[in-house]
Amino acid sequence: MKDFRVTLLRDILGYSTVWIPEGNKLYKLYQLEQIAVKCKKCPLYATRNKFVFGWGNPYSGIMAVGEAPGPEEDELGKPFVGRAGEFLDYAMREAGIDRERDLYLANVLKCFPIKITNGNHLNGKINGNPQPFRRTKAFREPHPSEIKACSNWLEAQISIIKPKFILAMGNPSIRYFLGPNVNISFIAGQPRKIRGGEITVFPIHHPSFIIRNKTPENEKRYIELLKKFREVVGDLIPR
Ligand code: URA
Repeated sequence: MKDFRVTLLRDILGYSTVWIPEGNKLYKLYQLEQIAVKCKKCPLYATRNKFVFGWGNPYSGIMAVGEAPGPEEDELGKPFVGRAGEFLDYAMREAGIDRERDLYLANVLKCFPIKITNGNHLNGKINGNPQPFRRTKAFREPHPSEIKACSNWLEAQISIIKPKFILAMGNPSIRYFLGPNVNISFIAGQPRKIRGGEITVFPIHHPSFIIRNKTPENEKRYIELLKKFREVVGDLIPR
């Protein structure tokens, strides 16, 4: 990745030797994002509005990784700003976690995995009259090939942030870190060490799952799991 300061000093101002101090995490992420937003590694580049890179505090030692942006995230370019994000904010707050201060939030997939459906009903006819073709954009599960193509961005984020803990939300995220045979129903709340013990992954359901299966018990259990996560990370989240 070419640092713009190198371009300026060497290529534009003509210095033969340039020395650039190692950039800080925010700056490195910024540089990475400038490159990532031009990504065309999978067909989703053609339908995205915004590349949803990530957001939050890269210094906390904690990342939270979800599945993929939805329509709201695609509009705003920021992860978890739609309904799932609203619930996540609420549940984290209840558990004493501040999503902007305490972690860096990203997704396995950075672009909205869109399903374009013909929004017309009645076979495109109303009262027998043909209607204009209307397209609607809906969320679909990411394809494994898309996750693979996108993984270099998540890996680059991880190598800059160097998290000690990853809150992995939902099956696509836990499978990314723990392998294809795990299922969130069986391992929610059970921390696993990965990558030579350097990172602890804490699996939890995706917030959208709780929205779809909304009961006071499920909500309470979700908040309890987040409280457990807060205990697991210890002092990384201030009391
Ligand atoms: N769901 C996700 O997994 N990520 C988002 O950013 C939004 C919804």
